[in-house]
Amino acid sequence: MGERVNVEEIFGENVFTIEKMRERLPKNVYKEVVSVIEGGGELSKGSADVVANAMKNWAVEHGATHYTHWFQPLTGITAEKHDAFIGSPDKDGKMITSFSGKELIKGEPDASSFPSGGLRATFEARGYTTWDITSPAFLKESGAGVTLCIPTAFCSYTGEALDKKTPLLRSMEAVNKQALRIVKLFGNDRATKVNVSVGPEQEYFLIDWDKSMKREDIIFTGRTLFGAMPPKGQEMEDHYFGVIRENVGEFMKDLNKELWKLGVPDKTQHNEVAPGQHELAPIYETANIAVDHNQIIMETMKRVAEHHNMRCLLHEKPFAGVNGSGKHDNWSLCTDDGVNLLDPGDTPNKNVQFLFVLACVLKAVDTHADLLRQSAADVGNDHRLGADEAPPAIISVFLGEQLEDVVRQLIETGEAKSSKKGGKLKTGVSTLPQFEKDATDRNRTSPFAFTGNKFEFRMVGSSDSMASSNTTLNTIVAEAFCEAADILEKADDFDMAVHDLIKKYLTKHQRIIFNGDGYSDDWKKEAERRGLPNIKSTIEAADTLTSKKAVELFERFGVFTKTELESRQEIIFENYAKTINIEALTMIDMASKQIIPAVMKYAGRLAKDVNEIKAAGVDATVETQELKEIQDNLTKMKKALDKLKAEEAKARKIEDPRKMAFYYKDHVRPVMEDLRAPADALEMLVAKTDWPFPTYADLLFEG
Ligand code: ADP
Ligand code: MG
Repeated sequence: MGERVNVEEIFGENVFTIEKMRERLPKNVYKEVVSVIEGGGELSKGSADVVANAMKNWAVEHGATHYTHWFQPLTGITAEKHDAFIGSPDKDGKMITSFSGKELIKGEPDASSFPSGGLRATFEARGYTTWDITSPAFLKESGAGVTLCIPTAFCSYTGEALDKKTPLLRSMEAVNKQALRIVKLFGNDRATKVNVSVGPEQEYFLIDWDKSMKREDIIFTGRTLFGAMPPKGQEMEDHYFGVIRENVGEFMKDLNKELWKLGVPDKTQHNEVAPGQHELAPIYETANIAVDHNQIIMETMKRVAEHHNMRCLLHEKPFAGVNGSGKHDNWSLCTDDGVNLLDPGDTPNKNVQFLFVLACVLKAVDTHADLLRQSAADVGNDHRLGADEAPPAIISVFLGEQLEDVVRQLIETGEAKSSKKGGKLKTGVSTLPQFEKDATDRNRTSPFAFTGNKFEFRMVGSSDSMASSNTTLNTIVAEAFCEAADILEKADDFDMAVHDLIKKYLTKHQRIIFNGDGYSDDWKKEAERRGLPNIKSTIEAADTLTSKKAVELFERFGVFTKTELESRQEIIFENYAKTINIEALTMIDMASKQIIPAVMKYAGRLAKDVNEIKAAGVDATVETQELKEIQDNLTKMKKALDKLKAEEAKARKIEDPRKMAFYYKDHVRPVMEDLRAPADALEMLVAKTDWPFPTYADLLFEG
């Protein structure tokens, strides 16, 4: 049985932590670094050189040969270009490694190879990466050896953000500034900073590597484009929290080890609802670090899975008819003196600051439900959101019984006199301790749920970066805080003004609160009646980015300029078209070169059998019927295949990115469904040994 792991020893081993900087840097330089991390600003050139040298020495001691500015471009997980620490040999021919402050702080990847959404046309192709000093550098061990990764932000020559991190950092500053105003108004003069904390729960699938290599759809698109449901689906729900299979357990152990070495505090692991599906959750951290760590988690999952001869699927919907994967974005705000602004305490009705913050969040979410929905949109996620699976595409907020009751009292009477208690949980077994029940139960169908001391935004897709959802959340809440602070700072009677604002916001925005079943059709009708947006697809959601409301919001808080929003929108359209294009071409390929030939071969043999059976003077009705059914589906397939080729060719010729994306959605995708249906029917008619690639049962139950 496997090796033992000492968490305390290995945790952060591959990270250039503050602790390591304290050990390795001269005192004054160390102090400067800490002051920049905590208070912003820039390192002096001299100090940057010292830090770079210390960082390089540490990295080289640990076997690193290269460094890279690690960043999050607008499509794909992360990007890196490796440079060796090679300097020039000295006079004896000995290699002197080198790494300067300039190389640490600023990089120049070729911006033209990353999507810029038109920014490239208007501005120079050049782009810069700059070190995000608040996120520590780390060593990545991979097939390429050991590489020092420096987390960076990526901007164009004129300062437009070309990545996901820059706006996130801007939004954190915005919400910090506005939240501090609120905290001060409520009498806290000690806090100097309000941090955004984020804890992502990551879902994923694991399948056998060799089998996955036999499926073009998985290789090229990360999901299955064909496949009939196996006889056993997830009806039994026996997988959820079930015993972790031995090979998966070994994967998890290695994954944990790698992540702990990288300083990622991953804590919880369990099986998920679907067969082959699992979840991993780290302990929450400051937003930008949590987002970086989530990227590291996704990368590491893929890499470690390969070492275990498995493939990790991060796609939101790898298998039709089987639960998809999401990423719950747990979000809250904490002051640097330790107050969680979303902690209601035992008696939320008496906690005025909490109620006020809650009212502001509700206002923000209701006012910008469209933008929040957009922030969780990606092509793969269109298969989940609104597709009768967790959660619906309509944003609503779940508060739970206790808070809903407090809110109701506030709206009705302007005062909340009581808070419902959770009570004791009685198990009926005297030797088990009686513990306090939470006063909030869970509602798994809600896209935005209050869960004790944080909100849980459950719409984000499993393959997506957490940057976008948190950027939007931070900004909309910053706006609500700002508008409230503008009023409160001028108020003569603060208590009265707070009281009035809470009542006003809750009354005006109560339509966003929904505690019922988010999957039901009744809710869709009710939401429509309430006027809540129901945005069905990624590209419809992209349209909201350039609305007057969105531009005003993001420009006001310095998170995005109008130009940046337009560029992001264009990238979404381009990426959507590209993704569906690849999916369509893959289907065409699999249908023409694998499924149809296999079916024809099988049908040919069956036809011969029919003739032989008939020649033997026996009734061949069953065989004939089978053959007929096969031929019917084959005809349907061929028709859909020809149509898909034609539509795809048309879509590809459209020049305007938005029109092209919508053409793919409205004209190409439906035909992909038309091609899939008869193919899946054929899978049920053709002998298993004749089917050209592994089936759902092979992938999900025999992984
Ligand atoms: P579950 O939602 O499955 O019950 P947990 O309650 O353990 O799981 O929390 C899920 C995630 O929420 C974890 O990553 C956890 O660290 C994070 N979390 C807990 N408290 C906060 C907080 N105050 N702010 C942000 N995230 C938090
Ligand atoms: Mg959760």
